[in-house]
Amino acid sequence: MIKELQLRISLNEEERSDFLVQKASQILDIDKEDITGIKVLRKSIDARKPKIIFNYKIAVYIREVLPKTSDYQFDYKDVSKAKAIHIVGFGPAGMYAALRCIELGFKPIVLERGKNVRDRRRDLKAINQDHIVNEDSNYCFGEGGAGTYSDGKLYTRSLKRGDVRRIFENLVFHGATDQILVDAHPHIGTNKLPKVVQNIRETILKYGGEIHFETRVTDFIIKNNKIQAIQLNNSEEMPANRVILATGHSARDIFYLLHNKQIALEAKSFAMGVRVEHPQHIIDAIQYHCSGKRHELLPAASYSLVQQVNERGVYSFCMCPGGFIVPAATANGEVVVNGMSPSKRNNLFANSGIVVEIDVHKDLPKYEQFGALKGLEYQKNLERMAFTAGGRSQTAPAQRLTDFVEGRLSADLNPTSYQPGLNSAPLHSLLPKLIGSRLRKGFEAFGQKMRGYYTSEANIVGVESRTSSPVCIPRNEHLEHPQIEGLFPCGEGGGYAGGIVSAAMDGERCAEAAIKGL
Ligand SMILES: Cc1cc2nc3c(=O)[nH]c(=O)nc-3n(C[C@H](O)[C@H](O)[C@H](O)COP(=O)(O)OP(=O)(O)OC[C@H]3O[C@@H](n4cnc5c(N)ncnc54)[C@H](O)[C@@H]3O)c2cc1C
Repeated sequence: MIKELQLRISLNEEERSDFLVQKASQILDIDKEDITGIKVLRKSIDARKPKIIFNYKIAVYIREVLPKTSDYQFDYKDVSKAKAIHIVGFGPAGMYAALRCIELGFKPIVLERGKNVRDRRRDLKAINQDHIVNEDSNYCFGEGGAGTYSDGKLYTRSLKRGDVRRIFENLVFHGATDQILVDAHPHIGTNKLPKVVQNIRETILKYGGEIHFETRVTDFIIKNNKIQAIQLNNSEEMPANRVILATGHSARDIFYLLHNKQIALEAKSFAMGVRVEHPQHIIDAIQYHCSGKRHELLPAASYSLVQQVNERGVYSFCMCPGGFIVPAATANGEVVVNGMSPSKRNNLFANSGIVVEIDVHKDLPKYEQFGALKGLEYQKNLERMAFTAGGRSQTAPAQRLTDFVEGRLSADLNPTSYQPGLNSAPLHSLLPKLIGSRLRKGFEAFGQKMRGYYTSEANIVGVESRTSSPVCIPRNEHLEHPQIEGLFPCGEGGGYAGGIVSAAMDGERCAEAAIKGL
């Protein structure tokens, strides 16, 4: 017999080794010996009150064997001689498109401009230490895409777009911890992600798919509005009739290429701002109602904040507890910041993007001349400003939070996790009013919502500009570009995803669409 229970467990109870069995036997009024196994289905923390509670949903197996295998099976087939689907980009969207092709009996041929996860690491070191950005291999480009050196947070609001559980099960199948199947706010961590990505690559190769690294797609050969071939590295052409375009939100050359070829694009609203960094103990103290040293069973605390300011949302984005701020530029001459954290989230800092919604149809009148690329040009300008204000390297412009809000240059800055270093800059006057004035009001409001958040011990670091794509590549109900037969815009670059999970789900959907009629 299997019985499901919802339990509320205190910190003291959680410390005991067999607390779930004890509690279950008590509630069900059965002997502990009759419980043959317990499967945790869901776990979350309720820290709203000083007495912190762990909420559990469990399945209690009573005189019944706990099954070892998952309900999800991945039926990969040998596709070495099957018809080909070309996939541009090997981020979450491209990886899951490739895996789905194999399940459906088609051969994925992946073209990825960046390097494999191991070689990519050297280029990340060069950005952090020498301030040199390899424009094909960086925090956004390379095996696993922008998701590899990230926090690996797996939250999504796109529950209607696909089977989230299937995506998680597949990550576990490829080596991620099965804790992600249980946690209310699952994450993998930057130290564990490369191995998962590498295992996905190995599955694709094992079943006959192809992956070509350091292969940038530089042109599409189109005849009669139909894809015929793709050009690689400005030279060789590869015949292709079904192309999944999963190049992410930072592949500006792809947006320019499509624009120049007069392939329809649309400007898309997005969000930009800064990253704020607090000592983790401040966030722990606020969220866990403690003096700052959190209980060892509690993870580094996180937060989620939102405030409406002058008709635009100001909100926290990609919050990384116990994490690092990283330089996420994809070209020299720009500074872009983002965040990542290791699986244990045990670094001393808590960072989060704090961004302002930008309505491209109303907010950018001076950029109208750029048409569909107006948001992109605005984004580029902000990143150039950050490069100049940071000191013309990957050093980022920064200000103490209170100085930013009160409008004065910081005489000095707080310690930071951002490896290339910070440069004190008057971000209150450098950021466009559209963003800066809303951020200042937003931070004041956040200080009211979380007492202690608004503090001179926090820095803001500029600029958080790549929250999502500023361009949409349109597609019809068959997920195909309305103008170009055989082109399937996919994932975050096309404007169809906003994170690892939604990009992966979109990858699967595009694979299903691309094989139709082949
Ligand atoms: C530092 C950082 C931390 C993040 N943290 C999280 C997080 O914790 N949780 C979360 O959900 N999301 C996070 N994100 C966002 C997440 O990574 C993206 O939403 C997701 O990776 C988008 O997937 P994608 O496959 O659509 O595009 P991408 O991951 O951007 O992949 C696109 C791929 O296409 C390749 N490419 C581009 N142009 C070409 C070309 N011309 N030819 C060949 N290849 C090309 C790129 O090299 C890249 O590998 C983070 C992003 C960054 C940068």
